[in-house]
Amino acid sequence: MEHYDVAIIGTGPAGLGAAFALLEARPGIRLALIDRNQYSSGGLRNDCKMNFSWPVGFPEDDWDQSLAGHYLERVESFLQPAIMERKGVAVYAHRAERLGVRLLEIRQAHLGTDGGLALIKRLVADLSARGAEPSLGETVLSVDAARGILTTDKRELSFGAVLVAPGRAGFSFLQDVMRANGVPFVDNVVDVGVRIELREDRYPIVKDYYDPKFLFPKKVRTFCTNSRSAHVVQEKYEDEAGVWYSVNGHAWSADRPANGLANFAMLKTIALTEPLASGQAYARALGAQAMLLGGGHPIMQRVGDFRLGRRSTREAFTGDLYDFAPTLASCSPGDIGLAVPAKVMRALWNAMKSLDTIVPGILHPSTILYYPEIKTYANKPVFQDTASFRAAPRLYLAGDGAGTSRGITSAWASGMRVADGILEELGQH
Ligand SMILES: Cc1cc2nc3c(=O)[nH]c(=O)nc-3n(C[C@H](O)[C@H](O)[C@H](O)COP(=O)(O)OP(=O)(O)OC[C@H]3O[C@@H](n4cnc5c(N)ncnc54)[C@H](O)[C@@H]3O)c2cc1C
Repeated sequence: MEHYDVAIIGTGPAGLGAAFALLEARPGIRLALIDRNQYSSGGLRNDCKMNFSWPVGFPEDDWDQSLAGHYLERVESFLQPAIMERKGVAVYAHRAERLGVRLLEIRQAHLGTDGGLALIKRLVADLSARGAEPSLGETVLSVDAARGILTTDKRELSFGAVLVAPGRAGFSFLQDVMRANGVPFVDNVVDVGVRIELREDRYPIVKDYYDPKFLFPKKVRTFCTNSRSAHVVQEKYEDEAGVWYSVNGHAWSADRPANGLANFAMLKTIALTEPLASGQAYARALGAQAMLLGGGHPIMQRVGDFRLGRRSTREAFTGDLYDFAPTLASCSPGDIGLAVPAKVMRALWNAMKSLDTIVPGILHPSTILYYPEIKTYANKPVFQDTASFRAAPRLYLAGDGAGTSRGITSAWASGMRVADGILEELGQH
């Protein structure tokens, strides 16, 4: 059986951040980097916009401003992003403030989906050149931290330390790893919302501020804005609830032709309390309900129909009242009000009305609401050492799947934090 000083599961930003930090500090280290996909499948691969400001992407249970600032500086100095200029937003910030809404001031970079792929390829090649051993297209099935052994669909290998960073889509796998290794966890938080697609000229703020972050009352926020060459997409989930989809969005880089559309998510964070403590189970139930009502597809509805309290029909997406076609046309025209829990819908709609006052035009009748957009990244392991996200001897959990991040830069920072802990643990042996 091959032995590695460190095995990293997942080549998302958490895994990559840890790998580079480890190799920089200990150039000769033997490092396995395993991913079930050929390319990291999260935000690096989809739109790849990076936020370099507290608190965007940093769960406040695990981070404070000074710690995040320290790691963000390291992430930025490694990635050398081209920070986009942000101008002309004072008027929006002022309007927002009067409504009790906050517009965060953020430093951002945007590579686009094509730019992200090029970055992933460059990073993995760079890691190989530094002596890491990436193995893509290999799925990890189980991890036994006490014995220092992990099993994949191709082999068994032993390790001195392991970082499990399987992202949001690896949420259930991570839960299996935690159960098998006696790591207690809760997953009581989930984000539920809609993705809004509209003509870019009705959300002109995106010309000055690529991914504007508005924070509304009732834990509602805008998230993951895409423009210029923007598309709504769906992510497939397959679990006990069967197959269900969550919508998402991405954009191509500035090199591709613009399609005149923008999209962004409006999400509400829900923290569940006893007796229903699993956000994952709740997300599954909501996803299954949306599939039931959408005939196996997410639901889309024009704002004009939503305002009148009636479902959208196929004609709402072809008739002359509406002036752009949906980019995720496979969704079922319907009534999202039947699928979204009332409390969530109220909070989202109030936030949308506020946003329409801040940036007038977003609630044009032709604007499309897609449902569901669900983020189930809130596994909360009980760490033995919070500073390094060590959950058991030799076992580290980080990134969106472990709830230590909610974005590319914070996931990268989480990986670096793990690397610092691993170096300390290895140094003691
Ligand atoms: C469509 C989409 C668009 C996004 N856009 C943005 C954005 O523009 N900006 C932003 O900041 N954030 C964005 N995000 C969020 C961002 O992707 C995450 O915050 C970030 O990628 C989390 O990093 P991670 O390393 O924890 O996990 P991921 O990046 O998800 O990587 C986890 C990796 O683990 C692998 N894996 C999972 N299970 C196994 C297993 N059993 N064996 C082997 N490998 C496994 C997966 O294939 C995956 O490559 C987006 C997410 C999605 C899904």
